[in-house]
Amino acid sequence: MSAVAELGVEHDNYGFIKTGPFAPADTSVPGVYALGAAAGPRDIPETVARATAAAARAQALLAGERNALTVKKEYPEEKDASGEPRIGVFVCHCGSNIAGTVDVEKVKHLAENLAGVVYAETNLYTCSAEGCEKIREAIAAHDLNRVVVAACTPRTHEPLFRETCREAGLNRYLFEMANVRDQCSWVHKDREQATKKAADLVRMSVAKAGLLKPLPMYEIPVTPVALVIGGGIAGLAAAEAIAAQGFEVHLVEREKNLGGNLLKLRTTLSGENPYDRAADAVAKVGSNKLVKVHTGTTVSAVSGYVGNFQVELDAGSKKENIAAGSIVVATGGREWSPEGFLAGEDDRVMTSSELERRIADGKFEAQRVVMVQCVGSRCEERPYCSRVCCGLALKNALSIKEQEPGAEVIVLYRDLMAHGLKEDYFTLAREAGVVFLRYNPDEPPTVSKAGDALQVQVASPEVDETLEIAADLVALSVAIVPAEGSKELSEILKVPLDAAGFFSEAHIKLRPVDFASDGIFLAGVAHSPKEISENIAQAQAAGGRAASILARGVFAAEGAVAKVDEEACRGCGVCVSVCPYGAISLAAKGEALVASVNPALCKSCGTCAGACLSTAITTEHFTNEQIFAAIAAKMEVV
Ligand code: SF4
Ligand code: SF4
Ligand code: SF4
Ligand code: SF4
Repeated sequence: MSAVAELGVEHDNYGFIKTGPFAPADTSVPGVYALGAAAGPRDIPETVARATAAAARAQALLAGERNALTVKKEYPEEKDASGEPRIGVFVCHCGSNIAGTVDVEKVKHLAENLAGVVYAETNLYTCSAEGCEKIREAIAAHDLNRVVVAACTPRTHEPLFRETCREAGLNRYLFEMANVRDQCSWVHKDREQATKKAADLVRMSVAKAGLLKPLPMYEIPVTPVALVIGGGIAGLAAAEAIAAQGFEVHLVEREKNLGGNLLKLRTTLSGENPYDRAADAVAKVGSNKLVKVHTGTTVSAVSGYVGNFQVELDAGSKKENIAAGSIVVATGGREWSPEGFLAGEDDRVMTSSELERRIADGKFEAQRVVMVQCVGSRCEERPYCSRVCCGLALKNALSIKEQEPGAEVIVLYRDLMAHGLKEDYFTLAREAGVVFLRYNPDEPPTVSKAGDALQVQVASPEVDETLEIAADLVALSVAIVPAEGSKELSEILKVPLDAAGFFSEAHIKLRPVDFASDGIFLAGVAHSPKEISENIAQAQAAGGRAASILARGVFAAEGAVAKVDEEACRGCGVCVSVCPYGAISLAAKGEALVASVNPALCKSCGTCAGACLSTAITTEHFTNEQIFAAIAAKMEVV
């Protein structure tokens, strides 16, 4: 019997662990959570989001026992690294990922002979427990005061290696990484040239490492309260996830009521009632003493940083100031108002969600329905797929066939996005007699009137002539667009939007619910159009991430931040205007103004250092001296 079978969780017809759209991490067994491909086919961002959601659900169960078994990690005293550099170089095979293209032994041999290098070795997997132990042992055995790892990307592995160095008594910032995988073995084929490039990258890292300085970490106290912006299903799920961990939440919604778009839906494709579920979630949150609901309210100003945000709420007649340690943005989206197709001119032309309500309310009467997909989506202004509208069309088509088996349903589509297990419903619809006719995106369907009758014209690659279809009702699957106020909120929070106006995550695959700014997270349609289960999973994940900051009590901020030379600063404010994270301000120093960096906000991007004409601002760990040394090493002019 497999371990999963022993847990007794239910599976679907395909053998995936069963979860529901409104509890996407929960299995049929309380306390057992499912994530990733175990619960259905998923891509990487969704897998990461659902894994974080499952962790948040488990954290909620354990909230009462938080820190009961915590042991504070003790580090050895940091060793003095002010003497001559004694650099250790660790060249990673990454199995055959690097070693298949790069001669790692040769790179190691070249590294051994570089100035300052006293030790070098190769490792099969440097990030394994054994690989990290070897680094710690080498630091002790060879009295290393700088470490270079030639491996993959610092984006994923630098924190691990910095921690390894610190465990062995080195300051975290006396570590440098050469990316010989992503920047070399993965993008080149010629072994000799790739080896040469890897050696160049290592030589540059060693040259920089020789000039690295120990830097302090900053500990920031955290206000144990969260702010969730948006009171739709994602905001409700995020607020519930945070409160379930025992933290206070301010839930802010610009409309007069909570519940959002879900209150407008009547069924899901799999037959649940979203209205009831949304109403339940509203009631639950409303009765939760830890959640303070602010409806008819917007966020008008935010200052501060992770752990210590000061937020101004605007309820129209009054303003209120609150403090929050972390923030979740879950402002949702809305349906685009269709243009053309006689929309707004003829009552028989409606959006797919209006058709859904009409069917659910028993007001559907038509013998031939034509559904037009991708209205306002996948075009020049909105090049993205709105993701939910193919499922909505399938649901409507199946409901019509159930209510009126004799009615004809014709779906005009470009591609049908019946991803994952939705394919079953596509099959069911075809079996029920729904006609799917592909249209040419360059010649989208049009709707006109012949007398009082509605006529749909469509050019399909599957037939030679333009078809004229008489219709009793036309349903338009319209685009989903960002919620009102998204742009203003992005400016207030200083977080980015994508070209379509949705909020952008820090990293599409690795950090799907984080913003690049610490302490701010995102969930639901605010990020991009999503299914209900994806919305809730992402919201539980964002809630879990937000709560994880509150649970820490203090936040350790990056030590490699911008630093101002106050003597050289002219107080011109250029750095203030270019900093994308709002990390710099001008402060009075005697009669003069000088730039001042908030280390909790600085992301070490270096923009200020590049903009300052007085060279008064430097990004620690990326100083001119360090970067010029790396360039000189590449040019071999050392
Ligand atoms: Fe692969 Fe990076 Fe780990 Fe080396 S450190 S084994 S390159 S993942
Ligand atoms: Fe078009 Fe379907 Fe994507 Fe909606 S989900 S934009 S109808 S392809
Ligand atoms: Fe000072 Fe340079 Fe900033 Fe101007 S740009 S305020 S000189 S640090
Ligand atoms: Fe701002 Fe970037 Fe300069 Fe930091 S390094 S203060 S984030 S511009």
